[in-house]
Amino acid sequence: MIDHARNAAAFLQNPERARWHDQALWHVRQKRDLAVKALPEWEELRQAAETIKTHTLEHLGYYLERFEARAQANSLEVYWAEDARELRQIVAKLLQEHGARRVVKSKSMLTEECGLNPYLESFGIEVTDTDLGERIVQLAGDRPSHIVLPAIHLKKEQVAEIFARELGTDPAESDPFRLTRAARSHLRQKFLEADAAITGVNFALAEEGGIVICTNEGNADLGTALPDLHIACMGLEKVIPSARELGIFTRVLARSATGQAITAYTSHFLRPKPGGRLCVVMVDNGRSRLLAEGQEKLLSCIRCGACMNTCPVYRRSGGHSYGTVVPGPIGSALAGARDCREYASLPFACTLCGSCDLVCPVRIDLHRQLYRERERCIRVPEYRGKRRGLKAAALFLRYPGLRRTLMGILGSLLPRLPRSWVYNRFNLWGREHEMPRPARRSFSRLYREHKQ
Ligand code: SF4
Repeated sequence: MIDHARNAAAFLQNPERARWHDQALWHVRQKRDLAVKALPEWEELRQAAETIKTHTLEHLGYYLERFEARAQANSLEVYWAEDARELRQIVAKLLQEHGARRVVKSKSMLTEECGLNPYLESFGIEVTDTDLGERIVQLAGDRPSHIVLPAIHLKKEQVAEIFARELGTDPAESDPFRLTRAARSHLRQKFLEADAAITGVNFALAEEGGIVICTNEGNADLGTALPDLHIACMGLEKVIPSARELGIFTRVLARSATGQAITAYTSHFLRPKPGGRLCVVMVDNGRSRLLAEGQEKLLSCIRCGACMNTCPVYRRSGGHSYGTVVPGPIGSALAGARDCREYASLPFACTLCGSCDLVCPVRIDLHRQLYRERERCIRVPEYRGKRRGLKAAALFLRYPGLRRTLMGILGSLLPRLPRSWVYNRFNLWGREHEMPRPARRSFSRLYREHKQ
């Protein structure tokens, strides 16, 4: 069972790292704010994006079948995978049939979710992540900690060490420009040698039967340019009705993710290249269950990462503390909805401040979703103690007279007790806080006197 509070405490052991992690993400949030303010129609775009997503998810079966038919008419091959295992098997089979030994892969949270890399590597297939941040964490033997900025938890000096160890660069060279150049020449060779390319999918266009992939580095385009086999992996929720709606999503996605007006490369794949194959694997892996359970809001996510950048808990606890592929507010809601037992602590890793709701480009009411997940996750047996505590708190809060009397007694008693009786392992709040000295006269007494 993931213990977010314990993982966050481990992250905070290094206050310097916690500080710059917080600042780096807040900087991205501010860039997003500036980009958004430049668009007077921003709220209308959000409203439109939400409406289109809701409509598409309500008619998901229709749009998926429409996409499949139109894609097949465009000579794309379409495969359906019920779960992660099936996705892995389909991709491995396609690669083996093609005789592929070296694969370049652009960023795809879905393939992370399905554990594709280790599976393919077990067949002796070399998989190279080509997004710079993902390549850094891959070389480090680490995991991404953010869906848009996978290596945000690493400082440039740490990247210099990783590159020196893995690519033979100068360990003292931590200039981002030079590090990027080193990564570029290393990856260029991988692109030239690749037998096949794997990509994610940002949007699948039902009407046109094509897919759209957004990257800032052009790595999906470079990866798919040479090999004859392109495998695109998409979650069922990626479909949108047609190219007419695409502009709304590309506008809100880029601004929310990095504060850019447009993602550097928005590439459309409508048919295979001459002599090549373009295979689209559509993956369910629990998505239709979420839909059936009325959690369709969570499937509206376009993976921009804005809710992470703004979340005070994420910024101060790091992506790895969530133990999930997608961290932060949306990751906590999704994980809680999928496996209440394993991820019971995640919906509680939230202050319910609602900042994520305000930035989400598709207007997911994240803090309400998290609150709902809390109500479900609190029922796991491990939270028996927490449940009892909350019941006691409810009793305490329901009766003001009882609350006043008890607080009065505690206020006069606690300061007189030995410190170790108050600040001990049972007092979690007291780990980070010092109790204020109670006032000599209570607020309600002062209020009464003042009123008289
Ligand atoms: S929930 Fe909203 S803000 Fe968070 S990643 Fe998804 S689309 Fe972006």
